[in-house]
Amino acid sequence: MSKRFRVAIVGGGTGGLCLAQALHRAGVEVSVYERGRLRTDRLQGYRVHINPHGAQALHECLPAELWQAFEATCGTSGNSFGFVTEQLQDLLLVEDELTSGAERDPVTAHHSVSRITLHQVLSAGLDGVLHLGKEFERYERADDGSVTLYFADGTTATADVLVGADGANSRVRGQYLPHAERIDTGIRAIAGKYPLTEETRRRLPTRLVTGPNNVIPPAGCGMFVAPHELDADHAPTADGIGGNDETATEDAVLFDNTGSYVMWAYAANGDRFRHDEAELSTMDGEGLRDLVGRLVNGWHPSLRRLIAESPARSVSLLPIRTSVPVPQWETTTITLLGDAIHSMTPFRGIGANTALRDAQLLASNLIAAARGDTDLLTGIRDYETQMIDYGFAAVRTSLRSAEQAVSANRAGRSAFKAALRLFSVIPPLKRKVFSELGNK
Ligand SMILES: Cc1cc2nc3c(=O)[nH]c(=O)nc-3n(C[C@H](O)[C@H](O)[C@H](O)COP(=O)(O)OP(=O)(O)OC[C@H]3O[C@@H](n4cnc5c(N)ncnc54)[C@H](O)[C@@H]3O)c2cc1C
Repeated sequence: MSKRFRVAIVGGGTGGLCLAQALHRAGVEVSVYERGRLRTDRLQGYRVHINPHGAQALHECLPAELWQAFEATCGTSGNSFGFVTEQLQDLLLVEDELTSGAERDPVTAHHSVSRITLHQVLSAGLDGVLHLGKEFERYERADDGSVTLYFADGTTATADVLVGADGANSRVRGQYLPHAERIDTGIRAIAGKYPLTEETRRRLPTRLVTGPNNVIPPAGCGMFVAPHELDADHAPTADGIGGNDETATEDAVLFDNTGSYVMWAYAANGDRFRHDEAELSTMDGEGLRDLVGRLVNGWHPSLRRLIAESPARSVSLLPIRTSVPVPQWETTTITLLGDAIHSMTPFRGIGANTALRDAQLLASNLIAAARGDTDLLTGIRDYETQMIDYGFAAVRTSLRSAEQAVSANRAGRSAFKAALRLFSVIPPLKRKVFSELGNK
C-alpha cells in the first residue's frame, strides 16, 4: 500500500463487517467498533434472503475459506416464488430459473441464510480488528483531517476515515447529516417461526414448505411466508460457523440457527391491529400470535395453523420505518453505509444486500486509494454518488412494496391479482416482469 490511512468503522453488522473483511484482507488498517458484547447481540433470529448483488459482494470481500463457509451454511428456500390467495389458491408461480439463471452459479444466485450464521461468517478471522462493547457516542474532527471517536466507556480512538455502519438509528448519521431523517410508515408487521420437523412438515401443504410465498388477501393486509431448510447433515463446523451461538441459551427458539423452519410475517397498517401503539409494543409473543390469529380468522386452515403452532417466543413485532432520501452532500473523510444512510422497509428483502453492495464498492475505492490509484476523497465521492443513486432507489421501491402489501384499495388488489393470473398464462410476460425479482 503506497498511501497509509486508518479506517474506523462504527457498527459490526452486515455491511460494516463485510467492509472490514475486504479492507483487512487487502492490508488496509481497519478497526470495527461494535456496541454489542456478544457476537449475536440484538440480532433478529429470522432468515435473510441474499440476492445476486449480495452474493457477489460477499464473494469479492470475503477470503475464500469464509465464502465457502457462507455457501456451506446457507439453507434453501425452495425453487420457486409463489403468489397465493389467503385460501391458498395459486395466483402465480415464478420458477427459480427465472431469478437465479439456469446455471446456478452460487456467486450470482439467490440464497437463504440465517442472520446469525451470516454474522458468524462475517465476524470470523477479525481478531484485533473487531472491538466489541464499544458504544460510539460522537466524533470530533481535527484540523489535520483526523477524526476522534468517543465511546460510552470513556475511551477514544483516532482514524483518518470514519465509516458509519451503525444501522438504522445511526449516531454517526445523526451528527454528520442531521437533516437525513428516518420516518415511521405506520405499518406494523408481526413475524414468527414455525419449526419444521418431519411431523410438522406433513401438517402443511407442499406449497408452503417448498418455496417462499406472498399471500394476497382481498385488501388491507399481506403476509409473507418462506421456508428456511437446512440439510439433515448440516452441522456446526470446527470454528463454530453454522452452530448455535451464545444467545441460543437465552432464547433457544428465536436464536436457533441449526434447525429448519418456515418464517411468516403478517403486515398491515397499525390501525388494523385495533390496539394503540403503546399496547401493541408491550405485547409478548403469545399476545402478538393470538392477535394475528384473530386477524386471519377465515383464512385457509394451514395458514392459521402456521401461526397458531409457532412457538410464542419466536413471535415479535416489527414497526416499519424508512429513510427519506436526501440530495448528495459535500464529500469528506466521513461516510455512511447500509441502513445508516438508506434504511428501507423489509418488503423487498434487499436492505442487507444493498449494505453488502455498499461494502463492496466502498472497499474497492478505499483499496484503490491506499494503492495510490486514486485520491482518497475522489474514491469516497465516487462511492457516495453511486450509493445514493441505487441505495435511495431501493428505499423507494421498498416503500412502494410495503404500501402495496397493506393497501386497503380492493379494486387495486383485484387488478393486481388479475395481472398475476395473466402473467401465469403468458410465460414470456412473466419472464419479462419477474426475471429481476428480489434483485432491485
Ligand atoms: C424482519 C426483517 C427481515 C429482513 N430481511 C431481509 C432480507 O431477507 N434480505 C435483505 O437484504 N435485508 C433484509 N432485511 C434488512 C436488513 O436486515 C438490513 O438492511 C441490514 O441488516 C443492514 O445492515 P447494516 O450493516 O447497515 O446494519 P445492521 O446489520 O443493523 O448493523 C448495524 C450494527 O451497528 C451496531 N451499532 C448501532 N449503534 C451503534 C453504536 N452507537 N456504537 C457501536 N455500534 C453500534 C449495531 O449493534 C449493529 O451490529 C430485513 C430486515 C428486517 C427487519
